[in-house]
Amino acid sequence: MAKKAKAKKPAAKAKASKKMIYFFGKGKADGEGTMKGLLGGKGAGLAEMTNAGIPVPPGFTITTEVCTSFFENGKKLPAGFEENMMQYVKKLEDAENKKFGDAVSPLLVSVRSGAKFSMPGMMDTILNLGINDQTVQAVIKSTKNPRFAWDSYRRFIQMYSDVVMGVSKSKFEPLIDDRKKKKGIKYDVDFTAADFEEMVKEFKAFVKKSSGKDFPQDPIEQLKGARNAVFDSWMNDRAIYYRKSNGIPDDLGTAVNVQAMVFGNMGNDSGTGVGFTRNPATGERVFYGEYLLNAQGEDVVAGVRTPNPIANLGNDMPAVYKQLRDITSRLEKHYRDMQDFEFTIEKGKLYMLQTRSGKRTGPAAVRAAVEMVKEKLITKEEAILRVEPQQLDQLLHPVFIGKAKKDAKVIAKGINASPGAATGKAVFSADEAVEWVGRGEKVILVRLETSPDDIHGMDVAAGILTARGGATSHAAVVGRQMGKVCVVGCDALDIPHEDAKSFKVRDTNIEVKLGDWISIDGTTGEVLLGNVATEMPELKGEFGEFMEWVDAAKTLKVRANADIPRDAIVAKKYGAQGIGLCRTEHMFFAPERLPFMQEMILATDEAGRRKALEKLLPMQRSDFTGLFETMEGYGVTVRFLDPPLHEFLPNRESLMVELAKMEAKGSTKMEDENLKKSLDLIPGNASDLEKAKLLLNRVAELHEFNPMLGHRGCRLGITYPEISEMQTRAIIEAAIELNKKGKKIVPEIMVPLVGNVKEFQDQKKIIDATAQKVMAEKGAKVPYMVGTMIEVPRAAITADEIAAEAEFFSFGTNDLTQTTLGFSRDDAGKFTKVYIDKKIFLADPFQTLDQDGVGKLIKMAVSLGRSVKPKLKIGICGEHGGDPASVEFCDRAGLDYVSCSPYRVPIARLAAAHAAIKAKSAGKAKKAK
Ligand code: PEP
Ligand code: MG
Repeated sequence: MAKKAKAKKPAAKAKASKKMIYFFGKGKADGEGTMKGLLGGKGAGLAEMTNAGIPVPPGFTITTEVCTSFFENGKKLPAGFEENMMQYVKKLEDAENKKFGDAVSPLLVSVRSGAKFSMPGMMDTILNLGINDQTVQAVIKSTKNPRFAWDSYRRFIQMYSDVVMGVSKSKFEPLIDDRKKKKGIKYDVDFTAADFEEMVKEFKAFVKKSSGKDFPQDPIEQLKGARNAVFDSWMNDRAIYYRKSNGIPDDLGTAVNVQAMVFGNMGNDSGTGVGFTRNPATGERVFYGEYLLNAQGEDVVAGVRTPNPIANLGNDMPAVYKQLRDITSRLEKHYRDMQDFEFTIEKGKLYMLQTRSGKRTGPAAVRAAVEMVKEKLITKEEAILRVEPQQLDQLLHPVFIGKAKKDAKVIAKGINASPGAATGKAVFSADEAVEWVGRGEKVILVRLETSPDDIHGMDVAAGILTARGGATSHAAVVGRQMGKVCVVGCDALDIPHEDAKSFKVRDTNIEVKLGDWISIDGTTGEVLLGNVATEMPELKGEFGEFMEWVDAAKTLKVRANADIPRDAIVAKKYGAQGIGLCRTEHMFFAPERLPFMQEMILATDEAGRRKALEKLLPMQRSDFTGLFETMEGYGVTVRFLDPPLHEFLPNRESLMVELAKMEAKGSTKMEDENLKKSLDLIPGNASDLEKAKLLLNRVAELHEFNPMLGHRGCRLGITYPEISEMQTRAIIEAAIELNKKGKKIVPEIMVPLVGNVKEFQDQKKIIDATAQKVMAEKGAKVPYMVGTMIEVPRAAITADEIAAEAEFFSFGTNDLTQTTLGFSRDDAGKFTKVYIDKKIFLADPFQTLDQDGVGKLIKMAVSLGRSVKPKLKIGICGEHGGDPASVEFCDRAGLDYVSCSPYRVPIARLAAAHAAIKAKSAGKAKKAK
């Protein structure tokens, strides 16, 4: 048996032969900064600083491999580990000239976790380890502060018992409260040294009673317990959850850092602080931070005492201040990035406890990156990679003032569909929004869900909030395109029906009524009560300069999705190189145009449809003229009408309800003012009741069970060719008009939802015939292109056939995701959260391209398409065109451009630059091999 058990553990043996512990101290470390995987971020940083001659309290790091082996072998340490650790304890004692448990010079250490990726506060840490009944006396002597010594001891007992012995920290609180009551005091600060001394006795007895074990006095036993507990904390619920939500693998393990304690609370020649080498909020190159004299690290962050600005240290301790500035400047130069550091001063001697790249806001990231290039610290390419594309959001939208948001009440959280901060009075219909804004109010449009006929309300609202819908639901797509702050799919909002005038927040007493102030954060998805103050982030000069570098680095072009000149102007301002998608249907939803569109839909024959289309023609032509003029010199892709027609008509259910009401009352008059207007669409003098019945009949005829897979896209133009004719005419006439004025326009006409080359051929024939006719009429010629969207799998699979006919492809990845995954884009919001939690998807596939599935179809279509037409122009115009990871994929897949909402253009430009730089360095690395 014994033999078998031994043979079973080759892994533990193999690991045992590797170096398990790395020492650092006295200017030399076994490890170095690149060893984050083995030593964890903290351990690698401590080694790197030690090697660079920076004063760091000595210590040793137990590797992450020991941790993984610990878990692989039923929580047993590798053979020989304990003996090995004792050698390092001895080394540490020698370096410090102190000894564990010594009555005169006791060694006290901290035991901290430290994984490859920072997991702040998730795992366990124990300070002041080594303190016991004997060494506490030595601490009293050296600090001349018995209160501090006893307080440290009782804290150590609490911390250690909680982490190692399973006696929860909170169980000690009643003992502390009893003592306060007995003494008639309110706060911990009122305890004396004698109180803490008595508490130590009381706590030890309590631990014995609760755990059945004595509180360990032997520092080595304490160390072993703490070490194993830190390993165990890798698998605590908090840490597991954190890793899950941050995509950190579970098998990396944590290192354990055992480091000599230094005390910042040994009098006024001691202190502690934290800081940054540049301002992390603005990026300005100033020494930034706070410190406290005669204090320990946690006092600075706990807010018990107000820390001083770091510049004051120059007066309190000029020499230490100078040394700190020198060291941190060196660290910044060494790491070539802004540093976030922690330090302690013990009796006038400075120690660095940690340094790492500092987290920063978007504006700070841009400014610091630009300035670091000017200081010759980094290259332009490195500067570009230092700013995450998503961070640019903060430079482009209003944001909540930090304090105002902190003071406000968050009542719900939905999907963060379109970023920025918006406040306004809650209104519950698009018409209300228009009316309220008309009288000078600011509103947030709250809807169960939005449909295209809410567009006028969305247009005037400061923000949009819906209870249903996913990231590519109508509200989200339109919200982003308009640059409107938008939170969707917020299912905590209980909106009982379409016409409700208030909502309740589920499981609370909170109710928001018409006219109540609310605020929404489109960056986080939060919904807040009240009018939370916002500010416009400053657009500094560095941003423009940075974006010039970005454009020089990228090869992928960035276009915008814009339907009207106003959006195109914004797109151009943000650097769009053309329009990748103009959704023509949005032009028909304006209140003055909708009746003509409805007339066309309700017409019973072709003649009737043509009559209505004639009225729409001049409107459509003027839209195109405006758009082409704004984007002169750039490509503009105009897509034919796409949505199912019933979207332009009154809602079937509302009509049914109104009819039922009229019939119940025996009335022939329609009460609902809005619906009543739509009865004008039925010609003749019949009563409201009769007209409502006729209208309902037609609406019912057009009703579809699966509208997204129904009569839409090119299927409309194929069944009603006169619609495609009108749209072609409007496009070609607009182009001729502008070309006559000397403006160079090459419209790109795009056919949606093609799955079969014959569908495309059908539409191309109509387009070409109409274009020739218009040109003959006008006696002028204009170049134009005809292409298609690739948004159903069959189109991707037969892309070679389609490419033989089409002059360009544009991937409609909203529909392509919907049709490939079989997920309804309007309903997927209901389950995507769970899918992400269960890691079935790592991200919402409607926001970040599903590269393994949809991405494969894209690659296939690119290669099939270009096998027929090597120079085929290919882009993407689904929402993924503004998502950084998807943009990088598009670059790798060989697309010519991405197209996204105007407000995402700078983000896409930066993502495209990241892609190009990464591809370049991957190419170099390959060559080098
Ligand atoms: C798409 O499907 O990706 C697309 C851009 O078209 P729409 O969102 O209008 O369906
Ligand atoms: Mg589509």
